[in-house]
Amino acid sequence: MTVSASKALFGLDLPALGEVLAAFGQKPYRARQLYDALYKGRATSVMDLTTFPLTLREELVAAGWEIGLPEMVQTATSVDGTERYLMRMADGETVETVWMPDGDGGERGDGSEAAAEEADEVDMPQTIAAPRRRDTRNQGALAERGFRRATVCISSQVGCAVNCQFCLTAKLGIRRNLTAGEIAGQVAAVLNRHGIRMGVDRINLVFMGMGEPFLNYDSFIGSVRLLTGGIGVPESRMTVSTSGILPGIERYAAEAVRPKLALSLNASNDGVRERIMPITRKWNIAALLDAVLKIPLRPREWVTFEYVLLGGVNDQPVHAREVLALLAGIRAKVNLIVWNPGPGIEYTQPDPADVVVFQKMLIDGGIATYIRRPRGRDIYAACGQLKRTVADQAPELVVIGAAAV
Ligand code: SAH
Ligand code: SF4
Repeated sequence: MTVSASKALFGLDLPALGEVLAAFGQKPYRARQLYDALYKGRATSVMDLTTFPLTLREELVAAGWEIGLPEMVQTATSVDGTERYLMRMADGETVETVWMPDGDGGERGDGSEAAAEEADEVDMPQTIAAPRRRDTRNQGALAERGFRRATVCISSQVGCAVNCQFCLTAKLGIRRNLTAGEIAGQVAAVLNRHGIRMGVDRINLVFMGMGEPFLNYDSFIGSVRLLTGGIGVPESRMTVSTSGILPGIERYAAEAVRPKLALSLNASNDGVRERIMPITRKWNIAALLDAVLKIPLRPREWVTFEYVLLGGVNDQPVHAREVLALLAGIRAKVNLIVWNPGPGIEYTQPDPADVVVFQKMLIDGGIATYIRRPRGRDIYAACGQLKRTVADQAPELVVIGAAAV
């Protein structure tokens, strides 16, 4: 048999795996074995698929099949424990993925919803007596290192087409969409790096890396299926952030399995939003909020509104009052994000006193409002900083692999 170009198994769903294996004369139960090994087992090489006979593994390899996880070609570590990875896809394109261990109350630091859930758990009655001696057998990799949880921030596109004026990723333009396998593959690669055990370690996911997930909808939702059904991340531990792609929000609202939603509001009226997010000319704030209102929220589910504070642009009391009016009647939380600077972007950071006033006004108006603590700013890993900054541009970055970008 001649060796063909490499083909990725990771990313295929159960029926597609069944088709691949049928070509090798295999029975359907083998597809389930492969699915489990790929996603639950997070296998990294075909030869490690030990539920398969050696001959079958060899045939798959000879035919050019491989697992095909993105390759981690560089990593940078922040003083706050955040790690930023440059991930290379099979065609050489790269995206960034960020790992944020513990740190603070979840949603304040990493965009996830962990803080609220943990607050709930504290209220739960403790019926099981504490063991006399600390039992580490069932402890996950995170607890062993003193963390309660970690959040993985994943990219959905190479670059971004949306062109928000305050965001470094926009400077890249759009190069291509990622596939479902390339999106979920970032998660598998990061979990492997940290030896994470699903079901034991507590992992949150945020679709807040490079790209606009709702402009790559099919791959986004395909990755959600692989992540929930395969890898084992509950949908309640995932948050997808959109800049406001109306058709995407409508499709999202109709999904049976869906992450929580975060909408990048970022302005309190269409005039300001059009200037900082030109996409507003296509779908304005009223249309977006209307679509949000139609999402069948589950009990205790809220929609998060992200709001990047830009000095003098959208951070004044008049803006806070407008935000309160916009969000009246919506089950909303607000995440305030102090703008992270980047080269070539002309905005300024808000005055810290204005940030506090803004938050207080929203809280006093009845909306749970958090200030997101920036993670990994020193390594260009914070919100809006993912621009594939590599070691030769920033000598402080720690490189673990050959950087071929
Ligand atoms: N494209 C999606 C998700 C990725 S961006 C979206 O825009 O929602 C994730 C968040 O980072 C968004 O809320 C975005 O408004 C915010 N962001 C972008 N650039 C930023 C910057 N320079 N500083 C702070 N937040 C930024
Ligand atoms: Fe794209 Fe989001 Fe950046 Fe806007 S903020 S350019 S949608 S990544």
